[in-house]
Amino acid sequence: MAFDIVAATGNRHKIEEMRAILAPVGITVTGALEIGGMPAVDEDGATFAENAVKKALAVAKASQRVVLADDSGLEVIALGGRPGVHSARYAGEGGNDGRNLAKLLREMEGVSDRRARFVAVIAVAGPDGLLGTAEGEVRGRIIAEARGDGGFGYDPAFVPEGFELTFGEMPAEVKNKLSHRANALHAAVKAGLFQKLEQSGAAP
Ligand code: IMP
Repeated sequence: MAFDIVAATGNRHKIEEMRAILAPVGITVTGALEIGGMPAVDEDGATFAENAVKKALAVAKASQRVVLADDSGLEVIALGGRPGVHSARYAGEGGNDGRNLAKLLREMEGVSDRRARFVAVIAVAGPDGLLGTAEGEVRGRIIAEARGDGGFGYDPAFVPEGFELTFGEMPAEVKNKLSHRANALHAAVKAGLFQKLEQSGAAP
């Protein structure tokens, strides 16, 4: 397998992670911003899958290229699954990673059940439509105070099961082996979503 795929995101952290995860299987990733921009996509779906499919189809249509979209977020059990699909805008429109993280830690003050998971859904689409989706998760817990400045989003508050370091403290190579994004991308490879592109001749 060897081809280039467009990532339907302007988030450079996501792109860096996708690149690191997919390079070993021969897939290179070009960010949508490098090929003319991300069309405005209303991420108003009720699920990660709906939003991932929306983004993949919109960018595939606009670019006429093979596209990969990631919709992802954090689900905290004690918060009934929040921030969930609203992870990126948890502290409101115009919010940012720092404000989202601060809001989460505030809501978790005094809460004893710290269990949470990151979820990612990957959608792959070509100019002729959707090729499929794949999901990945990583379970862990939310700590009381943010630690580490690596990664992005809620990484400094999340310790994956079996570890003591947060995603924000561990080297990117380690996060990229066990993250929800890694699991979703590996599931997409295993499901043959990328082979479908090769066979259909959609890959450039
Ligand atoms: P999306 O761009 O709509 O998929 O929103 C993803 C949001 O979920 C990000 O803005 C982060 O807040 C959160 N998120 C997703 N993946 C990660 C991750 O790997 N680390 C930390 N936060 C993440």
